[in-house]
Parts: sequence; C-alpha cells; structure tokens
Amino acid sequence: MNRVRVEFASQSVNEGFARMVASAYLMQMDPTLEDLADVKTAVSEAVTNAIVHGYGSKEGTVVMTMERNKNVFTLEVVDTGKGILDIAKAREPLFTSCPGDERSGMGFTVMETFMDSLTVESKLGEGTRIVMTKEIGGA
Ligand code: ATP
Ligand code: MG
Repeated sequence: MNRVRVEFASQSVNEGFARMVASAYLMQMDPTLEDLADVKTAVSEAVTNAIVHGYGSKEGTVVMTMERNKNVFTLEVVDTGKGILDIAKAREPLFTSCPGDERSGMGFTVMETFMDSLTVESKLGEGTRIVMTKEIGGA
C-alpha cells in the first residue's frame, strides 16, 4: 500500500512539484524510463486541469494521493473547484472549454494513453476526482 498524500496550493508553480513528487514515489517500484515519463505526463495533465479548470483565478487546494499494490501504481488527484457538467463530453479528444487559451483539449486523452486506466468523478460546484492506475515494469 504505502499511501502518500500531498496537498498543495493551486498555483502553476506546483505542477512541476507534483511531477517530481510522483517520480520520487515511483522510484521504489523500479520503473523503466518510459514508466517515469508516462506517469509524469499524466500527473501534469491532471494537476494542470485541477489548477486551471477546477480553480481558475481562485486559489484552492489540490490533493494528490499515491499508493502501490505490488506492481500497480494508483494516483488520485482531487480538487474542490467548479466541477464538470458533462464528463463524457469533457473526455472526448479535442474537447476544451477554453479554446482561446492555447488548450488543445487533449489532456484526458493523454492521461488515458499513458496510463492503464482513468476514472473521472465530478459534480458541478463541488469538484473533481481523477483516479489513474498503471502497472509499473520491473517491480
Ligand atoms: P489541454 O489539456 O490539451 O491543455 P484541456 O485542459 O481543455 O486542454 P482536457 O484536459 O482534456 O483538455 O480537459 C477537457 C475539459 O474538461 C476542459 O476544457 C475542462 O472544461 C474540463 N475539465 C478537466 N479537468 C477539470 C477539472 N479538474 N475541473 C473542472 N473542469 C475540468
Ligand atoms: Mg487539460
């Protein structure tokens, strides 16, 4: 199990921090370089979404929780920001609610591609919870 929970302010400077914490956690699982790159990419997408879409200009708290079950890594990212009205639509490739902001609408697609599973739970006005799992090679 070895559960680790990290809580940080929704500032973009913490995107890199979250990536580094996740890769530090992963070291105990004997990851390949590809595993590390994949997880860091997925963490960036989930944390950026929480900061940019969940909280926007408001400041809130992002909670990232990690655990391992043998060679399966589980990562959860939670915000209590504005939430998602239509989750299925949000998960479609190229869907973005901010087309003018150099967003490509590919975040969820990237998370799905680089991890083994992705679940999204969200309630408008209450926040969003993302859970991803990935089998880590070597461990
Ligand atoms: P990109 O990730 O390519 O920069 P994007 O963030 O718009 O663009 P996705 O990450 O796929 O694309 O997210 C799709 C949409 O889902 C977002 O535009 C936003 O409307 C919504 N969304 C995603 N995460 C959250 C969140 N944590 N809180 C509120 N809305 C979210
Ligand atoms: Mg995104």
